Amino acid sequence: MGSGFFGLTVAERVAEELGLRVMVIDRRSHIGGNAFSENEAETGIEVHRYGAHLFHTSNEPVWQYVNRFTKFTDYVHRVYTNFRGEVYPLPINLGTINQFFRSAYSPAEARALIAEQASELDTSEARNLEEKAVSLIGRPLYEAFIRDYTAKQWQTDPTQLPAEVISRLPVRYTYDNRYFNDTHEGLPVDGYTAWLERMADHPRIEVQLDTDYFDASQPLNKQATVGQLPVVYTGPIDRYFDFAAGELQWRTLDFEEEVLPVGDFQGTPVMNYAGSDVPYTRIHEFRHFHPERDYRTDKTVIMREFSRFATRDDEPYYPVNTPEDRDRLLQYRELMKGEQDVLFGGRLGTYQYLDMHMAIGAALSAYSNKVAPMFEKVS
Ligand code: FAD
Ligand code: UDP
Repeated sequence: MGSGFFGLTVAERVAEELGLRVMVIDRRSHIGGNAFSENEAETGIEVHRYGAHLFHTSNEPVWQYVNRFTKFTDYVHRVYTNFRGEVYPLPINLGTINQFFRSAYSPAEARALIAEQASELDTSEARNLEEKAVSLIGRPLYEAFIRDYTAKQWQTDPTQLPAEVISRLPVRYTYDNRYFNDTHEGLPVDGYTAWLERMADHPRIEVQLDTDYFDASQPLNKQATVGQLPVVYTGPIDRYFDFAAGELQWRTLDFEEEVLPVGDFQGTPVMNYAGSDVPYTRIHEFRHFHPERDYRTDKTVIMREFSRFATRDDEPYYPVNTPEDRDRLLQYRELMKGEQDVLFGGRLGTYQYLDMHMAIGAALSAYSNKVAPMFEKVS
């Protein structure tokens, strides 16, 4: 259930390794979940439909696995942020610090300055995102680059967010502004959809789109499958249990796409907007993800990203993960134990922030440890 990276990885392994037939259903009209991309009609520029997706991993088995289906470009992700009309490099690094404090600190001087500014709180005792960020970078940088952006992105006060959200954003005392630290990084040479389609392109895999698992009128619905077939469920876990323990909170995103009559709008793939004066969090300009491609030079595609709480009718993207959510999640985990032959996986099925390589890695482990044994039992 679900044709995202988790569902497709399990399907591919089961079809290829166990020689069994797999039916993949998805309620969307396309394969691939949130990693889906397509070429914008007017310009031919590849647009990631659900926000920019950058592939990066240090997990060798995952890297070897994904390379069976696609080659990767040598794209290296870099992000800039616009704070009060001035552009700074991210993640916060020596360049950001020196520009912000109008100075030319050496690494040691910058470290000493930030240590002093951060001394009001101890990182090991940080109980939430705000405390963790202040303990790492001090209050002035936190207030400029993190506080309002985070509040805009999560619609939640940073004192109510878990500290882990910010550990994804490293701070560096060099001018290195690579966004990711992983060994491998790149974008699929001929696009995400070609990669995803190759994973599903197997004689024993059938994909059925526009099919909602909770629609009782279609034959592969929940009642008809659970207990009859081993099921891999990668949808929202609260929905599976009919919200029995309450609704988990999710964030969703609204994307506003625009084709502009210029060859280059912002000179870089992603520009964040740090302040609360701008309603969107960032602007993606997709041509810059593929400088090696021969895109037309008179037009460009940009996408503004807005963040808000999801209602039941929205696509759930990011778990909000407040303390109440974590309590509910524990109750759902108890309920999951009662569902034999159902594997809950992926970002929605485990209520976890998972990057693509993590979803694929988790699916590979789940295949070996749980899915293959499930089939041994039924055969
Ligand atoms: P999904 O891709 O969400 O797949 C779940 C599938 O289940 C969907 O296709 C959905 O339609 C289907 N489904 C749900 N409910 C039903 C139902 N009732 N019936 C039938 N089908 C259903 N990762 C990175 O590595 N790098 C990035 O830069 C990055 N950027 C991201 C940006 C955004 C905005 C988002 C949302 C995610 C990003 N990710 C990124 C994460 C990446 O999208 C996930 O790791 C990946 O999608 C996880 O795959 P999945 O299979 O768990 O879930
Ligand atoms: N963040 C921030 N300012 C920025 C970029 C990120 O405060 O300019 C914080 C924010 O809390 C965000 C987290 O760092 O949720 C992780 O950012 P990243 O860009 O990795 O997350 P994404 O939204 O792309 O998953």
